Amino acid sequence: MANIIDGKKIAAEVRSEIAAECEALKAKGVTPGLAVIIVGEDPASKVYVKNKKKGCEEVGFHSEVYELPENTSEKELLELVHKLNGDDSIHGILVQLPLPKHLNDEIIIANIDPKKDVDAFHELNVGKIMIGNYDFLPCTPAGVMVLLEKSGIDVSGKECVVVGRSNIVGKPQAMLLLHANGTVTVCHSRTKDLAEVTRRADILVVAIGKADFITGDMVKEGAVVIDVGMNRKADGKLTGDVDFATVSQKASYITPVPGGVGPMTITMLLKNTLTAAKKC
Ligand code: NAP
Repeated sequence: MANIIDGKKIAAEVRSEIAAECEALKAKGVTPGLAVIIVGEDPASKVYVKNKKKGCEEVGFHSEVYELPENTSEKELLELVHKLNGDDSIHGILVQLPLPKHLNDEIIIANIDPKKDVDAFHELNVGKIMIGNYDFLPCTPAGVMVLLEKSGIDVSGKECVVVGRSNIVGKPQAMLLLHANGTVTVCHSRTKDLAEVTRRADILVVAIGKADFITGDMVKEGAVVIDVGMNRKADGKLTGDVDFATVSQKASYITPVPGGVGPMTITMLLKNTLTAAKKC
């Protein structure tokens, strides 16, 4: 049976480090501030925004939530982004995705001041990650790296397989594993023999959005398996992309869902906001 990587415990450790740094910064007259903008009524997005606000309160940050109606125009949203770009009490700006269909994510993100882009989605920050000279890392892949590090798992020289190539998880995850000297393979929906590739992995990171997709027969004995997936089953329960029952029998380490990668994502957002505040 695999060792369970306890994301809640590790997130709590990192948050207490952030809270201590926040105190020290406040003593110098700077309170880290995060602004979160949500457009429309998506229930899942509303929960994420609520948790981000709660996370800020936990570590002593100032936070502002802007809840805009579904029919907000691009001009109105950009006006708010520009206002926050110029607001000295705000160090991080996050626009909750997905936006309603009439708004273009890329245009909105491109208008966030890269120094306040705590999601690290702005093309300048994406480029900086590529060359390994970055201020912010995208929250979920960065959280995965912290989970590995805090669990004493060395990436250097390991066969790393990332399943999924999205801009917010798979691609940056592959880049971070490469920066940590892993030998990295990225799989996606056109990969010919997925199981043949996943079975090679010493470290397997799965981010595809398909419930219980990766099964025990697709994993090497002793592999480290990180499950980024968050899927709602018909009974309302949250489950990952990895079939925990069979994979945990073969893996040496595994993240559960819930309680694995999830708690790290907002924690890394707080860390990025702290970094931005320190640089101001
Ligand atoms: P996404 O944008 O939908 O991307 C999914 C990726 O999986 C795509 O690259 C797709 O390949 C690949 N894929 C789909 N089916 C596949 C298959 N059968 N075999 C191999 N690859 C396949 O999803 P995402 O935003 O990266 O999110 C992935 C999962 O992580 C979701 O469950 C999401 O909810 C979760 N998530 C969790 C957190 C967290 O904080 N824990 C944060 C973000 C996301 P193609 O590119 O070829 O289409």
